Amino acid sequence: MALRVTVIGTGYLGATHAACMAECGFQVLGVDVDQGKVATLSQGQVPFYEPDLAELIQRNVSLGRLRFTTSMAEAAAFGDVHFLCVGTPQFPGGLGADLSQVHGAISELGPHLQRQCLVVGKSTVPVGTAERLVARLAELAPAGGDVELAWNPEFLREGYAVKDTLRPDRIVVGTRSSLAEKILRELYSVQLEDGVPFIATDLTTAELVKVAANSFLATKLSFINAMSEVCELTGANVTELAHALGYDQRIGKSYLKAGLGFGGGCLPKDIRAFMARAEELGVDQIVALLSEVDKINLRSRSRMIDLARQQCGGDVSGKRIGVFGAAFKPRSDDVRDSPALSVAVELQSQGAAVCIYDPAANANAQALFPSLEYAACAVDAASGADLLLHMTEWDEFRALDPEELSGVVQSKRIVDGRNALDAEKWRLAGWSFRALGAANAGQAP
Ligand code: NAD
Repeated sequence: MALRVTVIGTGYLGATHAACMAECGFQVLGVDVDQGKVATLSQGQVPFYEPDLAELIQRNVSLGRLRFTTSMAEAAAFGDVHFLCVGTPQFPGGLGADLSQVHGAISELGPHLQRQCLVVGKSTVPVGTAERLVARLAELAPAGGDVELAWNPEFLREGYAVKDTLRPDRIVVGTRSSLAEKILRELYSVQLEDGVPFIATDLTTAELVKVAANSFLATKLSFINAMSEVCELTGANVTELAHALGYDQRIGKSYLKAGLGFGGGCLPKDIRAFMARAEELGVDQIVALLSEVDKINLRSRSRMIDLARQQCGGDVSGKRIGVFGAAFKPRSDDVRDSPALSVAVELQSQGAAVCIYDPAANANAQALFPSLEYAACAVDAASGADLLLHMTEWDEFRALDPEELSGVVQSKRIVDGRNALDAEKWRLAGWSFRALGAANAGQAP
């Protein structure tokens, strides 16, 4: 009989994973403690913005392959495989990961496990967590040794989550037995037939692959942002520099774009959690490296604020600033640790009136920062502005017409925090155009 799957935690990762497992033909039950989320998903709707996910959920819910519940007892009775997809945010007031959702889910699930099953961790956790969960499950589960744990880190990118889940770059599984590996191969048979590389390893290595991958990506981004400071001071062009570097196959083009840096619910908290874990392990070099990566990233935000202040004549107080973007990246409504919002909030605290427009994230941003102003479109956000800031790289912003905006702003000034707009187009329309890290020397005032 086909394996039956549960997905515990139906946020950005879990809802996508549940829908994609159902799309691959499995019977799937999603479990969440959030009743509102469960109700929305059960109606075939998605409680957040993720391209292509709504169709997938809708289809699989109506086909009866995908259901949602708040009952862990129901999940335990239903599933042969339980994917653990709960959140692992940064611990408030510290660098480490807050594992309370992981421990909570295991404590709730464990006592209901009466028969043979595989629990598969997908959440990003500090190295060593899985081994501790093996012991915890052994204590809690009535089925004892028939309950096994495996780790299968997730590498999906928000904005491309469906594509990345259905056709990932690679599948990494950490297991403690050949049976667990066999079950995971069966679960991912669609992907394996499609030629996706499958890397089977131990629990600890699997946990560490994810943390190392995010640390590397963060380092790459901070490297190019550190280079952009050199470019600013010397008159070099960081976009052309990155373009030239990217042709080197050992370096590659992706994650080499200078700008406002990284944010979101993964990279910042993952590198901080790794710093905390490396400190416990006494690996000081990793702590020093990632601490510098984090500082360079946060410095990009202060450089953006400095540039905005400079464009406002040295003081933003009393100025009206239109902000394009609130999400931490385009194609997402996720505002967790968003660089755009952190800059917007700081400018407001320095006395500016800030009006934001994001194609998908206005509601989430407003829930977090109700004192900022929100507009229904880019033109409204720009209305009466002394300065415009481009902070999230949506296609919609690249397509904006500077001639049209000229008619609504107070002053034709824009700062591109993502090195993504067409500078020539804006300058030809008479705008003062500045970009974070780009060569700004000799440009119109
Ligand atoms: P999220 O906060 O969107 O989702 C977590 C969900 O778990 C929430 O819906 C929450 O209500 C639910 N939950 C909490 N405790 C629960 C419990 N005891 N039982 C059932 N449900 C419970 O987080 P996310 O962005 O989906 O991330 C989840 C994990 O995946 C994190 O470890 C993250 O680092 C990792 N990850 C996320 C992404 C991403 O792009 N979002 C990518 C790769 C890995």
